[in-house]
Amino acid sequence: MDSSHPQEQQAETRLVTSGRDTKAQKGFVNPPVFHGSTVLYPTAEDLHAHRGEFTYGRHGSPTTKAFQETLMALEGPQCAGVGIVPSGLSAISTTLLSVLKAGDHLLVCDNVYRPSRNFCNGMLTRLGVETTYFDPMIGAGIDKLFKPNTRAVLVEAPGSQSFEMPDIRAIAEVTHGHGALVIDDNTWATPLYHRSLEQGVDISMQAATKYIGGHSDIMFGTISANAKAWPMVTEGIRLLGVCAGPDDVFLALRGLRTLSVRLAQHHRSGLDMARWLAARPEVARVLHPGLETDPGHAIWKRDFTGASGLFSIVLKPAPQKAVDTMLNTLKLFGMGFSWGGFESLAIPFDCDAYRTATKWSPGGPTLRLHIGLESVDDLKADLDRGFAALKAAM
Ligand SMILES: *Cc1c(COP(=O)(O)O)cnc(C)c1O
Repeated sequence: MDSSHPQEQQAETRLVTSGRDTKAQKGFVNPPVFHGSTVLYPTAEDLHAHRGEFTYGRHGSPTTKAFQETLMALEGPQCAGVGIVPSGLSAISTTLLSVLKAGDHLLVCDNVYRPSRNFCNGMLTRLGVETTYFDPMIGAGIDKLFKPNTRAVLVEAPGSQSFEMPDIRAIAEVTHGHGALVIDDNTWATPLYHRSLEQGVDISMQAATKYIGGHSDIMFGTISANAKAWPMVTEGIRLLGVCAGPDDVFLALRGLRTLSVRLAQHHRSGLDMARWLAARPEVARVLHPGLETDPGHAIWKRDFTGASGLFSIVLKPAPQKAVDTMLNTLKLFGMGFSWGGFESLAIPFDCDAYRTATKWSPGGPTLRLHIGLESVDDLKADLDRGFAALKAAM
């Protein structure tokens, strides 16, 4: 297996060919799951020098190496390294702890994943880092929020509930002008559909719990960084002692192998369902940057090569009890947090309670939908039943 020039291949091919060492695996296609803490050194001299491809379980194994090589090949030539952490949230917290120090200022997009906000407001405040939230649509206007001590900007494109699409290229240009770092939570599109490191992002993280795992069966996080940021990230990971269990790394690698076919289907079914919902009389608005009518569509078209299966809808005004009746009627859409697995999900949400830089007033009850790999005809029939129950309960 020759994966020495992976960038000449298309992303779909790189996902299949990278990180494979057939000879070392005695002919088997996949690497074994190395359950291990201790690594033995052949000589005292090797031990003193910490010499060896692998040195200790926390620092990596052939299983983690195969995963890291494959994700690096997907991220592209700007990627200097991939860090492995136990969850998506720990990818955020580890990244922020790696690049910030007491007295620093951090800018965070107002549509960011809520636990990321909790980390900034809780632990970072306690450690002496100040956070300012900004309007996701701010673009180059972010310039006026910079202070002499602004060290980093955290963005999420699009936000995973409200789906505003920040202009990462414009934000990155201003941020680099101030000598600060851009951190992107790229979980929604994955590096397959959004090559964020190519677009000025310094550190791109994944809740690999979602589409990379792809089967709702692991907790996992990754941190990809460019040459400027990687030394800080790798040092932070080492100092904090975070790592992931080998079975989860193996499942994440297996997820990467089929990411392109799963995501292509989520993209197709998601847009099909979004268009169908936009035409429903019960729906006031669909929040999906892949729709031509969406305010983020131009940026999505410029910077992304696809969409995932996650988007939201705003219903016409209805009592919460009627919406709950609708949710209770659905059979294919399960009610649960997380997303990115093979199954469809529906949850109510409300950003108004915690947003600080912008007001969230959609004008009706909001539902976030994850479109899984079921037939869209069956999903439409399920929602048809749900809408009938909603109307009956009003
Ligand atoms: C789920 C999620 C996370 C956190 O991932 P976990 O693996 O659940 O910790 C971070 N960012 C986004 C956008 C998410 O949806």
